Amino acid sequence: MSISNKAVKRKYEEEKREFKLEWEELYFFIQKNDKPFCVICQVTLSQFKVYWLVCK
Ligand SMILES: [Zn+2]
Repeated sequence: MSISNKAVKRKYEEEKREFKLEWEELYFFIQKNDKPFCVICQVTLSQFKVYWLVCK
């Protein structure tokens, strides 16, 4: 049981670091040099964390 839960959690965390194509439409971010890049601000972020993909 616990092993299974760990595997699920790890998979979820790995997925969070991957660029999602839907982010292009939701947040106006594209993938550039393996990092999220805001096409509006022309800013590159350091990690793929969806809550970071916010224009400021
Ligand atoms: Zn921006």
